[in-house]
This record gives sequence, structure tokens and C-alpha cells, in this order.
Amino acid sequence: MTDAPARLNAADGPAPRPLAVLILMSRTGGGHLASARALEAEFRARRPDCRVTIVDLLTDHTAFPFSRMPATYDSVVNRTPRLWHAMWRVTALSPVGRSSAAIVRRLSRSRIEALLRSERPDLVISVHPLVNHLVLPVLERVAPLTPFVTVVTDLGGIHPLWLHPRNAAVYLPTDRAVELAVSRGLPRGRLHAHGLPVRADFASPAAARRDARRAFGMDEALPAILVMGGGGGIGPMEAIVARTAAALAAASPGGPAAQIAVVCASNARLKARLAAEAWPVPVTALGYVDRMSDLMGACDLLVTKAGPGTIAEASIRGLPMLLYGFIPGQEAANVDHVVDAGAGLFEPDVAALATRVAHLVTDGRGELSAMAERAASLGRADATRAIVASILSDVLDA
Ligand code: UDP
Repeated sequence: MTDAPARLNAADGPAPRPLAVLILMSRTGGGHLASARALEAEFRARRPDCRVTIVDLLTDHTAFPFSRMPATYDSVVNRTPRLWHAMWRVTALSPVGRSSAAIVRRLSRSRIEALLRSERPDLVISVHPLVNHLVLPVLERVAPLTPFVTVVTDLGGIHPLWLHPRNAAVYLPTDRAVELAVSRGLPRGRLHAHGLPVRADFASPAAARRDARRAFGMDEALPAILVMGGGGGIGPMEAIVARTAAALAAASPGGPAAQIAVVCASNARLKARLAAEAWPVPVTALGYVDRMSDLMGACDLLVTKAGPGTIAEASIRGLPMLLYGFIPGQEAANVDHVVDAGAGLFEPDVAALATRVAHLVTDGRGELSAMAERAASLGRADATRAIVASILSDVLDA
């Protein structure tokens, strides 16, 4: 009989190597990357020696033409939303979704396997619904003991591909989403509702309003309407700015009742066009904004598409929301999440939306502050911390 060590990392055994975490996302919109970075920062804060790698699985590790999907996503959802909706609904039918994923997996298996072998992760985290069915079956073959967990980055409509039955744990944004996952057959014991992971900045108070407005080149004193269209700056943003500026000017002839700040993100053409225009109220056109927590803290009302990341962040900042649209499929239920809570309104008609904005910052200020309070009640500033704490204790140390 040999004296085998009870544990591999026993004092006289090999030193344990630092924790290696592989986060799989894809750049379809900006939300998945934002959540991945939030998790990465929290892992580094808790385990300074850990190695966290974020990978765009679809772009960099699937076969052509699937690898092109993230690059074409913004234009598909913007220009042909019906086509996107049809794809979303068809793949939401379990047999279709699973067999489509199986085809992509078969064609991409060697690349996925090479990624897992080179990264040698102790833990794999998915923050994208298309990742799970591509990677889990390969991981089970390459490293069956490596836990795979999913952090769902949608607020309402949870696409069935998020919910692979062999997930070690699934982190969902709301209790409602947990019930949905249970109804789809996932064991309750593996489901956790901590909120949607957002950047660490949102866990601290925002910069003082005047300072933040100055830093963004905005008027320091005027109430501010923030206009956003996700990480791609998509939607009828230009029409929204034009109509809203006109409505604000008309509602307050003695001087502007509010200013507008527009996040054009990666849409450089939109930024250039907005910056070149002469507007009847102050309009600040911004490119990609890193300090979103300060910008949201500096504003009084958000006009946005129903992106889950944006909604989760705005809620933490107690910023009421006017939703002008949603990506059909995954974002439809986000509208209910906001409207049912009384944290905002849905208004797809641009002219009517502009009128509502003007009302809310003039005669409707009471209504606006009530919505702000309800928005704050939806906020989960501690989501990222709670998710990482649970992964470390419930999954890795289990
Ligand atoms: N975002 C950002 N800077 C920008 C524009 C967007 O940090 O200039 C972030 C935004 O704060 C949110 C994410 O990008 O975290 C957008 O995610 P969402 O889920 O709202 O929409 P998506 O772009 O995924 O459709």
C-alpha cells in the first residue's frame, strides 16, 4: 500500500496553480461583453492571482459562415428585424435550436476543442445563449470534471438555448426568470437569481452631477435626457433627437427645459451628423462612453431601446426609462420588466415619445420622480459580487 496524498494540493504536493477562468461571450450587441468584463473584474478583485480570459467564441472559434454572425448582427437586427425575429423564434423551438447548434458544433468542434485544450480552464462561464450547446458537449469530452456555468444576460425573454440541462449552475436576473427555467425542466437547486452583472462602477455612487456633466461637455445646470441605442447605437436615434429637441423647445419658450446627451457608441456617422447640426436645445453627441455609470448618474431620463444591460444599469442609477423599441425576440420581455414595475414607459412612435419627454421634464416632474423611485427599486448593484461569490463557493468549492 502506498502513502498517496489525501489532496493534490497537500503541503508536500505540487503547488496549486492559480485559478483559470474562461469566459465565453460574443459581440452580438454590447451587453454580453459588458457582463463578461464585469465578471472578470470581480474575479480579479477576489482572487488577484487568477487568470481570466474572455473569448468571443462565435467570431474566433466557430467555422465560417457562423463566425461572421457577430459582425453582421447590428445590421441584421436594425435593417431586417423581422428576419431576426423569425430566426429567434425558430431556434427557440427546442428541437430546431438544438439541431442547429449541433450542426455548428460539428463544423467547429476542432476549433472549440483546441481552445479548451490551450486554455485549460478550471471553470468555464457562458454569458451568451449560443455558446452553451456549442461548448458543453465538447467540454464533457475534453475535461469532464471542469464545471460549466451560465450567467444569463437577458432580463425577460430567456431563450431556451441558455438553459442547457448540464449546466453546473445558472445565474438568472430575476425570480421570474428562475420560475421560467424551472418550468423548462432545470433543477431549482442549480438556479440562482442575483440580477444581471454590470460593471463595478455601478456598485459605487456616481460622480456628482455637475462634475459629471462638465466632464462630458454638457450644460452643468440643465436637466438632461440621455438617448441610447445599445453598444451599436442602433434605432431611430436621429429622429428621436430631432423631435425631442423640437418638443423641448416648444414646451418651454422662455429657455430650454432640458438638454439632450446622445450616446452614439460605435456609430461614428451618427455622431458626426448630430454634432454638425444646430439644435434648439443643447445637444451633446458622445462616441463610445466608458464611464456610463457617471453619465447615467448625470441624467434625469433615459430614452433607449430595451437592452438588458442598459436597463439594469439605469435601474441601479434610479434613472427612469422611455423605451422606444426592442430587438424582437430577446428584448421583447424587457419592456414588460420595466413597464410592469412602473420604472418607465414604452412609446414606439417617435413624435409621441418626444411629447412625453417634454411633458415629463416640465409639468410631469412628479411622475418622473415616481418612476425614478420605482426604477431604483429594480436595481441590483451587488449582482456581479453575488454571482462571483456564489460561483466560488457553490460551484468551485462544492
Ligand atoms: N455601452 C457602453 N458605452 C457606450 C454604449 C453602450 O458602455 O458607449 C454599454 C451599455 O452601458 C450596456 C451595453 O453597452 O452595458 C449595451 O448592452 P445592452 O444589453 O443594453 O444592449 P446591446 O448592445 O447588447 O444590444
